[in-house]
Amino acid sequence: MKESILITGGAGYIGSHTAYLLAQKGYHVIILDDFYYKQPFNHSWATVIKGNVCDDHLLDKIFSQFSINAIMHFAGFIAVGESVQNPFKYYDNNVVNTLTLLKKAIQYKINKFIFSSSAAVYGLPDQLPLKEDHKTLPVNAYGNTKLVVEYLLSDVARAYDFKFVALRYFNACGAEFHHGLGEYHQPETHIIPLAIRAAMSGKEFKIFGNDYDTPDQTCIRDYLHVADLALAHEAALNYLKQGGLSEIFNLGTGRGYSVKEILTTVEKVCGQKLQIKICERREGDPAILIADPAKAQKYLGWNAKNSHLEKIISDAYQFERLSHRESHLSKEAII
Ligand code: UDP
Repeated sequence: MKESILITGGAGYIGSHTAYLLAQKGYHVIILDDFYYKQPFNHSWATVIKGNVCDDHLLDKIFSQFSINAIMHFAGFIAVGESVQNPFKYYDNNVVNTLTLLKKAIQYKINKFIFSSSAAVYGLPDQLPLKEDHKTLPVNAYGNTKLVVEYLLSDVARAYDFKFVALRYFNACGAEFHHGLGEYHQPETHIIPLAIRAAMSGKEFKIFGNDYDTPDQTCIRDYLHVADLALAHEAALNYLKQGGLSEIFNLGTGRGYSVKEILTTVEKVCGQKLQIKICERREGDPAILIADPAKAQKYLGWNAKNSHLEKIISDAYQFERLSHRESHLSKEAII
């Protein structure tokens, strides 16, 4: 019989790529997603349940109907700026709903849990690349919600027969467009899809700050292909299945690219010159964030093998082209 994995937020960006990979690896994938972004999701490789993690009765139904072996918890809000303006929304969804899910996991004796954490838990780095034992002092509500859940998981793991892996993502990007998967956020705030859309439409792209203490004065980030993120989740699941202890891992490549380097590659891949406008810094943006991925490499046997910048951008571009064509076709059908 297939092992069943519950994937909350499995119709979202990183969740859907991971869900697809696990389905290919022979798992029965059960996706619980509230379709908050109204994203299209027409895939037959998963059991898809529309609903929210805060729905106690729905969780009872799912856990009694299916024999779930592990939970991967992706569901959560991710917009840093919005989290600062509307902290209740973020604490409700990212913390309170996770609490509901964890209580149910313990009630139904599900003892393997993989959590989508974030590099935002570190705040402003003292040392680079960032290791997992670097101090955690988030500079926004989003990062705080991720850190609170990490604490919650540690306490639950101490009290019960329960093991978790928290994965601190750096910059997720790219797409598996040939499987109809990619990034679909409303509104989109991430540099790569925004720059590609600017290249495709001829609209202006805004650089948030060119006065940083970096070689070209723009921010540096560690960009990780979503296919590598999915592989890391599979590795984390195997780690827990083999009796691994609760751990926290960075997921990044260990190499950074500046905003300008991203834009140059977007221009090359799309074959279009960007209209660039230099704007004020975005609040809470550290100059450089780069992961030290050594711990994940050692414990999970995982390496970022799909994260070459040109591949990332070219995959994201193909996905944008496909979604652009599909939305155009569906508009024509309505007319
Ligand atoms: N960025 C930018 N213009 C944009 C979006 C992002 O200059 O329209 C910059 C942003 O300031 C940061 C980097 O690109 O330095 C990556 O931002 P993104 O929002 O993609 O990811 P984050 O690092 O915030 O998770």
